[in-house]
Amino acid sequence: MQTKTIRDLTDAQLRGKRALVRVDFNVPMSGGRVTDDTRIRAALPTIDALLSKGARVVLLSHLGRPKGGPDPKFSLDPVARHLQELTPARVVFVDSTDSDEALEATQRARPGEIVVLENTRFLEGEEKNDERLARTLAELGDLYVDDAFGSAHRAHASTEGVAHHLKPAVAGLLMERELAYLGDALASPARPFVAVLGGAKISGKIDVIEHLLPTVDALLIGGAMACTFYAAMGLEVGKSLVETDRIPLAKHLLDRAQGKLVLPDDALVAPSLDAAASAHPVPRDKIPRDEAMFDIGPRAAARYAQRVAAAKTLLWNGPMGVFETAPFDRGTHAVADAMASATRSGATTIVGGGDSAAAVESMGLAAAMSHVSTGGGASLEFLEGKQLPGVAALDLKEG
Ligand code: ADP
Ligand code: MG
Repeated sequence: MQTKTIRDLTDAQLRGKRALVRVDFNVPMSGGRVTDDTRIRAALPTIDALLSKGARVVLLSHLGRPKGGPDPKFSLDPVARHLQELTPARVVFVDSTDSDEALEATQRARPGEIVVLENTRFLEGEEKNDERLARTLAELGDLYVDDAFGSAHRAHASTEGVAHHLKPAVAGLLMERELAYLGDALASPARPFVAVLGGAKISGKIDVIEHLLPTVDALLIGGAMACTFYAAMGLEVGKSLVETDRIPLAKHLLDRAQGKLVLPDDALVAPSLDAAASAHPVPRDKIPRDEAMFDIGPRAAARYAQRVAAAKTLLWNGPMGVFETAPFDRGTHAVADAMASATRSGATTIVGGGDSAAAVESMGLAAAMSHVSTGGGASLEFLEGKQLPGVAALDLKEG
């Protein structure tokens, strides 16, 4: 499973060529302005690499969830203008995508220039992965580059279909990085390999647990999903968030886990989220009937930090508690800090999942990790062991 990347292409395959690049410019906007340009910046290394080889760059992206055709609210025009502020290269925006005008703009573009086409979700056939649309999109470039890892779990015309009609079809640098960490690093991890899983629901993470159990040395559980495991162990969980219908499954996982599943020894509980002032730690078998667990307790946080410090490969998905509300962010902080210092000691640390990534960003620790995945849903599917259609459609390395 070695996906070809732009680094495998020869200069002749790039010079003067139109590189049709699917990026993820699905950025937060407010009042017609980009409010967080992380995703635009994340695409710059690929864009710059292509431009420096004399390619002409044609960008495709979706933005938001427009319903039924073009909607000015979701135009990529402001995104193109923002991109122009970030790059010395000329950026041209075209307010259509599968039109003659778009095709001509790609042909007119000079080496070193960027053309941004309109929101792919304005196109009827995009989400249906319409074959005709895929062929039309394929005409907009001389090669295809997929750098939208966050959309790779969806088989859309611009993320999957087009790659069958436009060759070479290769990964961009951002995509390459995601595949290297989530794929290669986890396929042959330096040991001990410890995964930390949390978040709201066990139901969304079952396949991840199943997929990771055979390869991890330990799986540390936090978040509300710990409560479903507690319930499976016959413990009182009070008013905690429990998925009752998943209790049998949690039992089954505990039986199969051969001691690899580690549950928090204690819990930080409170009568409700707005009663944070009365938060207090209790041992896991002493959760009051009229209170709920909103974070792992201090003993668990310390124990998890120790396990993290001793690991060589770390994967973290899902916050340890309701990190949006202090003091229930402590467990998440403890894990994030421990991961950051593990990175400094030479461990490979990978964070996947939208909320976990946001937590790490808000703590200013993103740069302290080996890799923070840009794809929420896509990274989850990857960790479930699924083939992402957008990746599967790309060329493989020769030899
Ligand atoms: P990710 O996006 O990183 O995969 P999830 O979406 O699975 O993470 O879960 C994140 C959410 O889980 C957060 O909004 C957080 O408030 C919630 N959460 C974590 N622990 C608890 C808990 N004990 N009770 C209720 N919600 C929780
Ligand atoms: Mg989430």
